[in-house]
Amino acid sequence: MNVSMNLSLDNTQHAFAYKSNADLRKALFLFSVIQSPLVVSIATNVTPFLMKSGLPINGIIRSTIFKQFVGGETLENSARVTKQLGSYGVQVILDYGVEAKEGEENFDAVTEKIIEAVAFAATEKNVPFVSVKLTGLASMNLLETLNEAPRLRSGIHDSESQTGEWDRVRERMYAICDIANEKGIGILIDAEETWIQDPIDRLAIELMGVYNKEKVVVYNTYQLYRHDRLHFLKLSHQLAVEGNFLLGAKIVRGAYMEKERERALAMNYPSPIHVDKNATDIDFDAAALYCIQNKENISLILASHNEQSNLSIVTKMQEIGMSNNDHKVHFSQLFGMSDHISFNMALENYNVSKYLPFGPIQDVIPYLMRRAQENSSVNGQTNRELLLIRKELARRKAKK
Ligand SMILES: Cc1cc2nc3c(=O)[nH]c(=O)nc-3n(C[C@H](O)[C@H](O)[C@H](O)COP(=O)(O)OP(=O)(O)OC[C@H]3O[C@@H](n4cnc5c(N)ncnc54)[C@H](O)[C@@H]3O)c2cc1C
Repeated sequence: MNVSMNLSLDNTQHAFAYKSNADLRKALFLFSVIQSPLVVSIATNVTPFLMKSGLPINGIIRSTIFKQFVGGETLENSARVTKQLGSYGVQVILDYGVEAKEGEENFDAVTEKIIEAVAFAATEKNVPFVSVKLTGLASMNLLETLNEAPRLRSGIHDSESQTGEWDRVRERMYAICDIANEKGIGILIDAEETWIQDPIDRLAIELMGVYNKEKVVVYNTYQLYRHDRLHFLKLSHQLAVEGNFLLGAKIVRGAYMEKERERALAMNYPSPIHVDKNATDIDFDAAALYCIQNKENISLILASHNEQSNLSIVTKMQEIGMSNNDHKVHFSQLFGMSDHISFNMALENYNVSKYLPFGPIQDVIPYLMRRAQENSSVNGQTNRELLLIRKELARRKAKK
């Protein structure tokens, strides 16, 4: 697929230059296996049990799915992958991939890890961002309560212990943003489920008001599969203009579609998700366009594996005279997926990164299971990965 000028996403030689033949064959095997919803469903259920049973399964996981989607068990281990990506002009968003564990001690421990990641990022040339999931720093219960904002404001909510809990969450985020600001690293706040998202948004706006005065330190995430989010993006922009700060906007389609729809149905409220994929696509592309049309006070991170969405914004950038590496636009894909987008864009000098999780193998299993589920359910994406890998293996064989 081509755009005018030089960008082509079809070049598998560039896309997979960092992978050996053995790596590619492993990836081919892995994507073939996780393409099957049945296999993924069985693996999702039995893997945690097998790991607890003490069977020597870690080695298998480490050399297959972990290697494909995770940077390493520690920051130090992830440095190798980080440097390797950097040598192809691909940047990194570090993500402490350990899933939320409840309890204040765990929230403090996650905060420490994120702060370490920010400090590490500052020592690497190609790590401009670290991501944060608020559910790693706050309890689900608290976030759900705070999501009922109108009730809170009317004074019905009066739990002092929860007020204290929320103060501690804010302190954690301020501690992270302070060091990020000092070290010149961006903080990307992930978007989560609708029933906990309001306090996340409010905190993100508050932090942007504090840290994004001269440069963008804090980014909020906008899920365009929600039918209210294009409006919310514009509202956030308005708040930024009025509050004299810069808006950091990471845009995604959204990862929790099935869960959102099921809950809305079960609890009998209108689904927050667009009726179909086309409606999501239209809002996603409109959001990206809105950001670059307002680039004087919005910095955009377009986080997507959708070729069309990436290419269409590239075309718009050219139309309005933006250079490929304009610092107001950044592209990102998950590590282990869509290398043809990341590496070909890097070659044309776009700002592009891989979202790179790190963490102990037993703790990143839920993240890995989600990647497997996504690849067995997202129509077309796994097929595309398989086609590209086969094409590259054939190209290498023909060259011999
Ligand atoms: C760097 C990065 C960071 C991310 N961070 C987050 C985050 O913070 N929060 C988050 O929720 N997700 C996040 N994601 C995941 C993202 O939301 C998507 O799930 C994933 O990227 C697939 O969307 P796509 O644009 O890549 O591809 P596509 O294949 O074009 O789109 C698939 C997506 O379209 C939407 N969709 C599919 N079918 C329908 C339908 N019938 N009706 C309505 N919509 C539909 C769904 O969102 C689905 O995931 C991130 C992804 C990346 C690459």
